[in-house]
Amino acid sequence: LARNPGEPEFHQAVREVLESIGPAVDKHPDYADAKIIERICEPERQIIFRVPWQDDRGEIHINRGFRVEFNSALGPYKGGLRFHPSVLLGTVKFLGFEQVFKNALTGLPIGGAKGGSDFDPKGRSDREVMRFCQSFMTELARHIGEYTDVPAGDVGVGAREIGYLFGQYKRITNRYESGVLTGKGLIYGGAQVRREATGYGCTFFVEEMLRARGESFDGKDVVVSGSGNVAIYTVEKVYQLGGRVVACSDSTGYVRDEKGIDIELLKYVKEERRERISAYLEARSDADFVPGGSVWEVPCHVAMPSATQNELTEADAIRLVRNGCIAVGEGANMPTTPEGVRVLREAGVAFGPGKAANAGGVAASALEMQQNASRDSWSFEYSEERLRDIMRGIHARCFETAEEYGMPGDYVAGANIAGYARVAEAMLALGLV
Ligand code: NDP
Repeated sequence: LARNPGEPEFHQAVREVLESIGPAVDKHPDYADAKIIERICEPERQIIFRVPWQDDRGEIHINRGFRVEFNSALGPYKGGLRFHPSVLLGTVKFLGFEQVFKNALTGLPIGGAKGGSDFDPKGRSDREVMRFCQSFMTELARHIGEYTDVPAGDVGVGAREIGYLFGQYKRITNRYESGVLTGKGLIYGGAQVRREATGYGCTFFVEEMLRARGESFDGKDVVVSGSGNVAIYTVEKVYQLGGRVVACSDSTGYVRDEKGIDIELLKYVKEERRERISAYLEARSDADFVPGGSVWEVPCHVAMPSATQNELTEADAIRLVRNGCIAVGEGANMPTTPEGVRVLREAGVAFGPGKAANAGGVAASALEMQQNASRDSWSFEYSEERLRDIMRGIHARCFETAEEYGMPGDYVAGANIAGYARVAEAMLALGLV
């Protein structure tokens, strides 16, 4: 704690992992001898830089940029960029730490990193966002590369931002290095299903958790928080698997629609018009908008938190359990507080932690890198099938590891131990570096 002051989310993420990997540490004294835990908690490199840019009125703004390259034992650093006013070094470190284990769980050859800025794209014109992205990339470019570090999107960084970032990288390096960023548009090296992958993948993971209990999405009511990239494609896949989404949200409140959230309308409001969620009611006047309310008030069988960290608290978890919720799949990173997780686990709710349940996004990014490296592009159907296989594999790895260590059904322990063991083995093999 003393080494990393003022970083509560980073402490929370580290504590959660350390609390559950005890059995793996006991089983492998060689990990302790090599000080794997101490090394894994220390990022390999942390970059902080100034990002100056000019708005449409000519006023100058100074933001702060970050890239935390956490662990490259398994492959090049890989992880998204977040543009949000709340971003601090501790935020990026927590996300980077989670990413190391998540990427290991996919079974693919990728290390872990995360980056971003305290820049707020909301309310900014396209030109302002472009100027910011160009300034951000002017510094970031010297640290990344297809074989070094491959950023992607996250909160506030979607297809528009990735396009501007890639354009600037190409311009200042004079290299059409497609594999340097993922989440690219299909027209310039992007991959099918990357946009949908985190939401689809999380839904596949929950489908597997339900299947392990003899259940399915059929006839289930689902609540999804957020209405960004992860949330939208979670809603879409839940419908395809037979469930019904009755509520979703943004930071202003939530919409409840007993007939089922209209996915096409949601996409129109959020992706095309970039509006607040309340605009959904303009076309569906019989739905309700609850300003500032917690979406977890809405009764459901399955909850899929897909907005931000620590958005599902102990009180929310108690409410979910009382309302008959049987499964929670974390689409967002660390959306459930530690107290919330305890309530859900004690109540026997199937709980899929983010580092397993939302790994579909980074897995699809790794598939995008594969396609870029071979100058190939796969069909939507084939890419989705690969994603589904990967999510089934992650579920099986978590499930079987939890059983092996005497904690059946505990996906948190399964994910942490399986991810940790894979990274630790690679670190041991590479020696003291
Ligand atoms: P987006 O920026 O596309 O969407 C975020 C959504 O969450 C917005 O609707 C936002 O609302 C909402 N939100 C933010 N804060 C709150 C809050 N306090 N209460 C309710 N809603 C809120 O981001 P993504 O969908 O890409 O990411 C969502 C989460 O998923 C993050 O935790 C991210 O790290 C994680 N994730 C994303 C991956 C990806 O591939 N995109 C991969 C793996 C994890 P508003 O617009 O009002 O701010």
